[in-house]
Amino acid sequence: MSPAGRCGLHFPLGEPVSQGPDALRLPPTSKSRIDPQRLARPLTAVQGIGSVTARRLGGIGLHTVGDLLLYVPFRHEPLSRLTSVGGIQEGGDTTLRVRVLSCSVRSTRRPGLKVLEALVGDSSGSIVAVWYNQNYLKPTFEQHPEVLVRGSLVRRGGFSSFVVKRHEVIDSGEEGVHTLGLVPVYPASGDLSVHSIRAALNRVAPEAAHMVDPLPASLRAGRRYLGAPEALLAYHFPRSLKAARRARERLAFEELLLLQLALLQKRRRDEEGRRAVPLHSPGAMAAAFVQALPFSLTGAQRRVIAEIEADLARAVPMRRLLQGDVGSGKTVVAAYCLVRAVEDGGQAAVMAPTEVLADQHAAGLAAQLAPVGLEVGLLKGSLSAAERRRICGRLVRGELPVVVGTHALIQEGVTFRDLRVAVVDEQHRFGVHQRDALAGPGEGSVWPHTLHMTATPIPRTLSLTLYGDLDVSVIDELPPGRTPVRTHLILPQQRSEMWDHVRTQLDAGRQAYVVCPLIDESDILQVASATATYEDISRGELADYRVLLLHGRLAADEKQKAMAAFAAGDADVLVSTTVIEVGVDVTNATVMVIEGARRFGLSQLHQLRGRVGRGAERSDCMLMVDEEEEEALQRLRLFARTTDGFVLAEHDLRSRGEGQLFGERQSGFGDLRVARLLQDQALLIGARATARALLAADPELRDPRHVLLAEAAEERFGDRAHWLDRA
Ligand code: ADP
Ligand code: MG
Repeated sequence: MSPAGRCGLHFPLGEPVSQGPDALRLPPTSKSRIDPQRLARPLTAVQGIGSVTARRLGGIGLHTVGDLLLYVPFRHEPLSRLTSVGGIQEGGDTTLRVRVLSCSVRSTRRPGLKVLEALVGDSSGSIVAVWYNQNYLKPTFEQHPEVLVRGSLVRRGGFSSFVVKRHEVIDSGEEGVHTLGLVPVYPASGDLSVHSIRAALNRVAPEAAHMVDPLPASLRAGRRYLGAPEALLAYHFPRSLKAARRARERLAFEELLLLQLALLQKRRRDEEGRRAVPLHSPGAMAAAFVQALPFSLTGAQRRVIAEIEADLARAVPMRRLLQGDVGSGKTVVAAYCLVRAVEDGGQAAVMAPTEVLADQHAAGLAAQLAPVGLEVGLLKGSLSAAERRRICGRLVRGELPVVVGTHALIQEGVTFRDLRVAVVDEQHRFGVHQRDALAGPGEGSVWPHTLHMTATPIPRTLSLTLYGDLDVSVIDELPPGRTPVRTHLILPQQRSEMWDHVRTQLDAGRQAYVVCPLIDESDILQVASATATYEDISRGELADYRVLLLHGRLAADEKQKAMAAFAAGDADVLVSTTVIEVGVDVTNATVMVIEGARRFGLSQLHQLRGRVGRGAERSDCMLMVDEEEEEALQRLRLFARTTDGFVLAEHDLRSRGEGQLFGERQSGFGDLRVARLLQDQALLIGARATARALLAADPELRDPRHVLLAEAAEERFGDRAHWLDRA
């Protein structure tokens, strides 16, 4: 016997609906009369989209027919096929086309939970369909409408019912859109439900026929891609999962191709107008610098230097991103570039995001450059007016070969006589304009060669997009003699034992960092928490030690003093906010305690952990956790197991989304509608190669076969070039 039971009644039913909505709703005239102008019409021009819906859609940036068509689903619900009542099986979703025969509302033992039960049936039988907390449907159902219901069969105590997830009343003009086949799910927002977005898309779908396909026919044929209108429709309302996947791939490829075209064209245009002084090949000073280093360069450092040398020899300004994990030795590479500029008769500058870091660079570089007789100046906000004037004067006269500084380097009145090399450390901490201000043209519109450095590990394919108009070098090898940092998760009951360990280390002459939890990104709360932690610790666990406090709100000279004292070993413990995240280098520090660890992203934790383990001593990183949710613990356990920054960055990317990894600067990624950077890496590489090939053959994309591509790339990503040029 069928689970639904048999029912002798016969119900007048309409034509059977097909198996799933049709992906190809192109009107018959589509081939002969394409009219792209139709896509520019307001949404109210489409029958079935009223002014209220149109206004709400406008609220999420969808104003025209074309806008809505390109609002793609982020997933599809599992396939649900049309079944007769007599044929329902348990398990999975099914859709029934039935008439409502009777309905009633009943209260349950659970307070507030009401159940609407309707007897529904078709020619094969009837079954009780159940809606939870939707009593308002009763008046409609009392009209005995014909409905499509999507749900699943549930059996309890020998009694079967059909629990409805969604239904639609037939006659609404959108038959099956919400209940049948692979139902698309769109990002909803506020007063705009997924349902109304889906309904609106169903209305607007036939207009896809008027889309112009930017992909050249040969390219499409080579990849066996659908045309743009078909792909778009098949992505909204696919016939099968396979069709959806193929459609998505095609749309993602197009998007990535347009992005890469925009990037590469921008880069070419940039280079066209930019001149730099090509440096002669390395001479005696460069050799002496390398010779005088207290260590030999790693293989990775040598490789990167060779890559940089090739850039420096060109009359086009270098624009290279140097990526390397914390402690991988980027600074030496930067120092080498400075020497190269100066031995060629020019000047060089290093810009760092904080005074603490600028101080440290100034000291470190001064030591490294002293053997070759180079003086290093320091320019920062906290200098007196007189000092500042003196340094600026020496820079403009060309008397000071190398200067390290903060944003003060790019303020009014700072001019170089002949800046040949500019280094931007922790480049992601700067805005585009700030970086441009340093790396921009000087006298006679000659540009310096620029090296951007970052310790944020970015998966290779991602950097192709993020920094698509830069060359990327990676230091993927740590200097020898490092002992990997051991990472521990510390539960509340293990805290006192942990402090024992910290004290043991301090007693042995080592130093420790204590980092305070991230609070909301709010500076003020951050400072408060750091201060509270500082007071706690310096009175409690570490009362017998010299504890210092460092946070962003301290006056510059206080920060400087705290940092210098810690670096000089005059303090045992540095309690701090994440200001120490960047670049700080105290080899004697062997303990990193991170309060509220779960609040940090893994990449950020990785940066913090990189502050210890910089010498030969064994170091430990302690993550303070509460009895957290399992998910947070799992994430932190992964962190404890892995020291590979790239793996951690990928994890952040997967779990926190693309926008999260790089913070607000990344908002540009909201511009990718279909493509997903991690998921589509292979596609991205293909798109990059295709873009290169196209531009090699037709640099301005003037060929009639490429004109549409050029237009689309410009329209889609042309004005976004500024965010792409962030590096
Ligand atoms: P990063 O800026 O990439 O985090 P640094 O340039 O500050 O790393 O280098 C970290 C430490 O490693 C510094 O103390 C530096 O002197 C040292 N170092 C750099 N290169 C080497 C090398 N090839 N061999 C040994 N030590 C090195
Ligand atoms: Mg550094």
